Amino acid sequence: MLADRRAKIVATIGPATKDEVALEKAIRAGLNVARLNFSHGNHEDHLQVIRSVRKLSKELQAPVTILQDLQGPKIRVGKFEKGSIVIKKGEHIVITTDNILGKEKLVPSDFKELPQSVQVGTKILLDDGLLELKVLAVRGVEVDAEVVFGGILKDRKGMNLPGANLPVECMTEKDLEDLEFGLENGVDYVALSFVRHPRDIRKLREIIESKKSSAKICAKIEMAEALENLEEIARLSDAVMVARGDLAVEVGQTLLPGIQKKIIALCNQLRKPVITATQMLDSMVENPRPTRAEITDVANAVLDGSDALMLSAESASGKHPFLSIRTMHEIIAEVERTEEKYYKISLENEFLSPPAAIAASASLSALKLNASAIVCLTTSGKTANIIASYRPKARIIAVTDRMDVLNTLELTWGIQTLVIQPYKTMEDILDQVDKLLVQDGLAKTGDRVIFTLGQPISDGAKTNALFLHIVGAENEKRQNDEKLPLRCQMEAPI
Ligand code: PEP
Repeated sequence: MLADRRAKIVATIGPATKDEVALEKAIRAGLNVARLNFSHGNHEDHLQVIRSVRKLSKELQAPVTILQDLQGPKIRVGKFEKGSIVIKKGEHIVITTDNILGKEKLVPSDFKELPQSVQVGTKILLDDGLLELKVLAVRGVEVDAEVVFGGILKDRKGMNLPGANLPVECMTEKDLEDLEFGLENGVDYVALSFVRHPRDIRKLREIIESKKSSAKICAKIEMAEALENLEEIARLSDAVMVARGDLAVEVGQTLLPGIQKKIIALCNQLRKPVITATQMLDSMVENPRPTRAEITDVANAVLDGSDALMLSAESASGKHPFLSIRTMHEIIAEVERTEEKYYKISLENEFLSPPAAIAASASLSALKLNASAIVCLTTSGKTANIIASYRPKARIIAVTDRMDVLNTLELTWGIQTLVIQPYKTMEDILDQVDKLLVQDGLAKTGDRVIFTLGQPISDGAKTNALFLHIVGAENEKRQNDEKLPLRCQMEAPI
């Protein structure tokens, strides 16, 4: 069943997946997190997707995290008279910040500070680094450049100035408007693009708090400057994304594998969910099968310790959106079935907070007692996140009566969620949980489970206790598939 997979799948929603029928197929294929990319689409479209996801989530009993990805100060070329131009190696071209349509040898850009940000010799990369220019001269609003690697340059393609210290704010006017829209409509996470400094995260946090929203922050690491401030940025954020598209261009492609591993290791250590993103199954935009290199890349990102892996164009606009999701699911599930060293409870930290100590003990107890699950009664999802950071082999099941909390947990490795009815006593909770575990096929009567909770439960106390529980519900049995939460059903072909 889908619930057996630990590493989660973030799928970008776009023309190929945005209507309700397609979204249902995507969730059935294995989507855990719906990424709304605010570099594209309008508010009306995004709102429709948010409403459809929330509706489907209830109908399928499948919590889904909604991640709003802000565009950020992405520098782009402008538009061309004919939609694109061809630039050739050795040719001299002019980049202008004038608001005009481009043509052969004349490239417009909306980045007004371009002339001040470059000097003779600066490298300018276009279209995710596929094309390269070298600056020859700066003249007023124009920059003369020589083409180092040529090709077709289409309207609105991205422009990178690797290593340059750009005089831009992390959030543009558009980002602020998009953020307000996202928070008003209850997104679970806001991903901030082109983060460079801890103050970028602080600023976003202030805005989110001022709007009384509980949205969490995902820092996209894609700039060399962010790497210099990585630990503080990660500490201040709720999650981190290894945004490999821009990162590879900014730091140089050969450094990418090492940096990916470093970011993931740091996030694992800090217990921050980490997403590995971009081009994971890129060839599936066109083809029904991935390349061998892509299969291996997905598997390695899982083994590196990613909480989630992300699909971009594959699910947003590719020819095989659902097959891409299912293929990613299958590769992850296979790695997790066969790699024992993947489940690694590390108890190296000498001092832990009470919830972290309980989480560590729960993971160890589950291992030593061969328990089938760690059930975590949660009000905010924090303890479930900490338990996940120990990567236990037993299932992690977060239990709460709050659907909004469950929706935020889909990004984190291994967490499965059960919604229960509002409760007053421990007896009531255990009755409900036992029944659901057995009915959903997550445990059997007589199985051992480790329970973590905050006592007294009536006060919603922070996690401070753990006990061994034997699953009851003697008169219950696994229900028929159609009645079960989607992810507990037998996996249906897509
Ligand atoms: C990336 O650069 O890898 C990324 C995820 O960001 P975006 O898709 O917004 O460019």
